[in-house]
Amino acid sequence: MMITETHTKGILNPVKQPDDWFGLKYNMNLYRGCQHRCIYCDSRSECYQIENFDSEVIVKINAVDLLADSLPRKRIRGTIGTGSMNDPYMPVEKQYNLTGGALQVIAKNQFPVHVLTKSDLVLKDLDTLVEINKTFAAVSFTVTTADDDLGKKLEPGAPKVSRRFQAMAQIAGRGIYTGVLLMPLLPMIEDNSENVGAIIQMAADHGASYLLPSFGLTMRDRQREYLYQQLDQHFPGLSTQYRQKFGLRYFAPADDAQKLYDLTREVCDKFGINLSMPKFTPEKISSKASQMKLF
Ligand code: SF4
Repeated sequence: MMITETHTKGILNPVKQPDDWFGLKYNMNLYRGCQHRCIYCDSRSECYQIENFDSEVIVKINAVDLLADSLPRKRIRGTIGTGSMNDPYMPVEKQYNLTGGALQVIAKNQFPVHVLTKSDLVLKDLDTLVEINKTFAAVSFTVTTADDDLGKKLEPGAPKVSRRFQAMAQIAGRGIYTGVLLMPLLPMIEDNSENVGAIIQMAADHGASYLLPSFGLTMRDRQREYLYQQLDQHFPGLSTQYRQKFGLRYFAPADDAQKLYDLTREVCDKFGINLSMPKFTPEKISSKASQMKLF
């Protein structure tokens, strides 16, 4: 995959609507494009205008400096999220350490953070996350299948599911909130009670304190086209069934989603796993404290 370095003008985007999932106040994308190449990835959709999603990663090499400059000026201390449009721990992070650098800036400025990833590479920043957790830190791992082999077909560039859970156990062991984002759930591939039950069992075994489920898949333009090409390669005949069943609908629900939700509630209750995650309540930073940080 081609790596292109660029300079960006801004790095911290405000989240305007209340964010019920993660409680984010700001969003941060340090890269563009994603080496994990999940076959269902929504970031391929035309509305995001990321050309060459599967062949190029753009590295925002001045991102950490920009964050160091802008964060002390913020008047609201609220959760900074990373991992929505690309994975902050894709392999290129080993070379550039943008996520690691950004987390150090966040720790220094005592801001809360939520990291969403599919990679155990997050462990390289565990000490920094522990420091941030004096304010608030949470790390969510996306898991859509309990099966490493199936995971390799659906998320070919991402670390194995089992490695994600091993990382989760270490993060939980250091007292940081961690849990599972169980979405999407691909119809006719992953939407069965064995898969969902196995994911919850693994989450419980590895210290998850929350699990956020959504049972189905969104599909838009380029994202749908790419998914169907990949289904043809790995699951012959399935793209025809998708076309017949979902047409051009935006949301392709899991089969018997209600049954899966009921199962999820029941099993999560049994293990003491919450179906929402803890959130940091945004607070005003007094201008005096803010000025002191600037000098
Ligand atoms: S890890 Fe996330 S952003 Fe990256 S390809 Fe997969 S779904 Fe897309």
